[in-house]
Amino acid sequence: MRAHPTTSDLQAQDAAHHMHPFTDDAALAKKGARVITKGEGVWLTDSDGRQMLDGMSGLWCVNIGHGRAELAEVAAAQMRELAFSNTFFQTTHPPAIALAAKLADLAPCDLNHVFYSSSGSEANDTNIRLVRHYWASKGKPQKQVIISRKNAYHGSTIGGASLGGMAAMHAQGALPIPGIERIGQPHWYSEGGNMTPEEFGKARAQELEEAIHRIGADTVAAFIAEPIQGAGGVIIPPDSYWPEITTICKVHDLLLIVDEVITGFGRTGNWFGSQTFDLKPDIMTIAKGLSSGYMPIGGSMVSDEIADVVGQAGDFAHGYTYSGHPVAAAVALANLEILETEKLIGRVRDHIGPYLTRAWAGLEDHPLVGRAESCGLMAALALTPDKARRAAFAANEGVVGEICRDRAFANDLVMRHVGDRMIIAPPLTITEDEVDELIRRATRALDETHAIVQQAGLMAVA
Ligand SMILES: *Cc1c(COP(=O)(O)O)cnc(C)c1O
Repeated sequence: MRAHPTTSDLQAQDAAHHMHPFTDDAALAKKGARVITKGEGVWLTDSDGRQMLDGMSGLWCVNIGHGRAELAEVAAAQMRELAFSNTFFQTTHPPAIALAAKLADLAPCDLNHVFYSSSGSEANDTNIRLVRHYWASKGKPQKQVIISRKNAYHGSTIGGASLGGMAAMHAQGALPIPGIERIGQPHWYSEGGNMTPEEFGKARAQELEEAIHRIGADTVAAFIAEPIQGAGGVIIPPDSYWPEITTICKVHDLLLIVDEVITGFGRTGNWFGSQTFDLKPDIMTIAKGLSSGYMPIGGSMVSDEIADVVGQAGDFAHGYTYSGHPVAAAVALANLEILETEKLIGRVRDHIGPYLTRAWAGLEDHPLVGRAESCGLMAALALTPDKARRAAFAANEGVVGEICRDRAFANDLVMRHVGDRMIIAPPLTITEDEVDELIRRATRALDETHAIVQQAGLMAVA
């Protein structure tokens, strides 16, 4: 390696040796990956020295913003003190203890226990085993089925991807595993037809009840869902949805697993999306914002009842080498302290969240935008060739969205596309000026996309 490799050197080596997640590597090799070298606040710098606004908090995770030296100090100190120790064999350590106690304090309801993992996917794998083991320990081993939703994202391990409802993921590697059933998503904009959002939300919730009747309540262990679908396209359910789901879970004795990997740690203006939507989870999946992405760490927050039953049932034959990793736990704890001392969550709820919502709503006037939606600091634009009819493009889903993503990138804004929805989830530290800049860049990306799409004859309605 030379001391200062050029961007094209880096791109060539990357293409030669690095297989990227969720990427067409051959296509990427032709254009070369953008090499990110530095992060500061909401800003990323690439290997050519260009600055871009990170509208995605990395991957929904850098809640406190990039470049916080405090966390580097915490990690270094913990590595010097105790870089690793396991939690399997009758041992524990101060960082895992302190973080568990802090999480119990922050989590809603009686989620007073944590089973650690290193990622959201692993935590959801844990959840599959945990809920089945719980019911078996209660003398109901036939309660095994987990109900999930189409277009849900619960990670990319075999368990996580099976829980998820991403068709493209199920198409590869012989997924999903058996024992997982799916109902429709509460995606009113695309699927609500002529129903009002409230009617549609209720109807989609009632699919859970129908599924339980079809499968048999005595064989259903749990329902899993994200409060707001993130990777599915920032899909905010109608107000009627969650109350109905909550009731159905209670009536049929299902555990409610709330996947808070994105919605946790301030994203929606409360510590957890469960508080924003008034949910009472039995288990909560956490990762991403838990450490603001500074270290890989995740976990399952578990109710007193489940922890008690599983705790009394002998060995739970499950765990990861890095469950409760001391450095990751210490960094996560320091991250939670920053969220707390800088009052970042109240700021999202009362100030910068509403500020973004107002600015974002202005984009609805753009000729390409059918609807602008947001909750806290996560937001989406539905692109459409016909606003009045909420129509889809005649072109394959995602063609226009990808053009817009590329135009955002060209304007130094990281804004993602999911199909033809454009989504953002900036760091919770974003300032008003930076929100204004984000909106300016998004507007330029939309204008350029509109011009390209018109010129290419892509404004046809499906
Ligand atoms: C990202 C994500 C996961 C998976 O987390 P990883 O850390 O990537 O394994 C699970 N659930 C949701 C809702 C996510 O957004």
